[in-house]
Amino acid sequence: MTRETDLLIVGGGAAGLSAGLYAARSRIDTLLLERMGPGGQLVNVDRVENYPGFPDGIAGHELGPLMAQQAMDAGLAFAYGEAQALRPGAGADGRHLVETDGETFAACAVILAGGSTLARLGVPGEQEFEGRGVSYCATCDGEFFRDRPVVVVGGGDSALDEALYLAEIASSVTIVHRRLSFRGARVMQERILGHPKCRVLWNATVGAIVGEETVSGVELTTGEGASRLDAGGVFIYVGLNPNTAWLQGAVDLDGGGHVVSDGRLQSSVPGVFVAGDLRQFSARQVAASVGDGATAAIWVERFLRGPEAR
Ligand code: NAP
Repeated sequence: MTRETDLLIVGGGAAGLSAGLYAARSRIDTLLLERMGPGGQLVNVDRVENYPGFPDGIAGHELGPLMAQQAMDAGLAFAYGEAQALRPGAGADGRHLVETDGETFAACAVILAGGSTLARLGVPGEQEFEGRGVSYCATCDGEFFRDRPVVVVGGGDSALDEALYLAEIASSVTIVHRRLSFRGARVMQERILGHPKCRVLWNATVGAIVGEETVSGVELTTGEGASRLDAGGVFIYVGLNPNTAWLQGAVDLDGGGHVVSDGRLQSSVPGVFVAGDLRQFSARQVAASVGDGATAAIWVERFLRGPEAR
């Protein structure tokens, strides 16, 4: 079955919902294609403290649904399915085709807003113990480790945010970071370093995650050599991979798999725009993604009006 729409937004995180809100208010015939519920990675974030307008912060699982509600109230329509292929200009009248396993969408313009996925560490035991002590979501799984020691791997914003969240639940949080300085926000570094339940192992790497039925610890390499650290849970935050595998060959990607765009957030294909984490040079913040969504939708509206509006 083929569904026609003027604009197809692929992805219902902060970027996609913001684009959808703007598009709906511009009365563009729009569908937002989402593979699960709307909200994207936001819904797994305990507290968002740097989204303007919420001086006390707001839980990600509140902010995501609020964004979705606002877009729906404005008239945004949703479709469900996982985008598997983009065929630029392959439809009637040069429409862009986006295929899922059950449907094809034919759109005059597309906004790619599929976000990113947490990277895997790639060590023995990681895959084996996923869901049995290895986790990528502290807000989902933290409670399983109440009053038990946990390890957090990574030194970016995600690792620091989630380590602080876990420190309220676990008996202790050991952050294992491969360098001597964090890349996460300074304010979060200060909180980690001042928290009585957090400690940092600098210049340290996890070589393996070990256990029997469930995780019992990690094998570490530090400046002092190899050692073992007991832990009930291991939370891994070693970066984000853009969800762009399905776009290879359809639009230009950079070496990291991010979609290359111009200042209007248009990709190498006219009429195909990009917003949020998967865009090259995205700041990968909720506020930045929301800004991207608004920008892309505004340029889509001008694109649809024709060359004199651009
Ligand atoms: P990130 O900023 O890319 O940080 C990944 C961390 O993992 C880095 O410290 C990196 O070490 C480490 N790492 C990478 N590969 C590793 C490996 N194989 N073994 C051990 N350590 C490894 O990822 P992120 O923290 O998920 O953040 C992604 C983006 O989202 C960032 O732009 C971030 O600002 C944003 N974000 C923002 C917030 C917020 O504003 N509250 C929250 C979450 C995420 P090196 O430092 O040595 O490279």
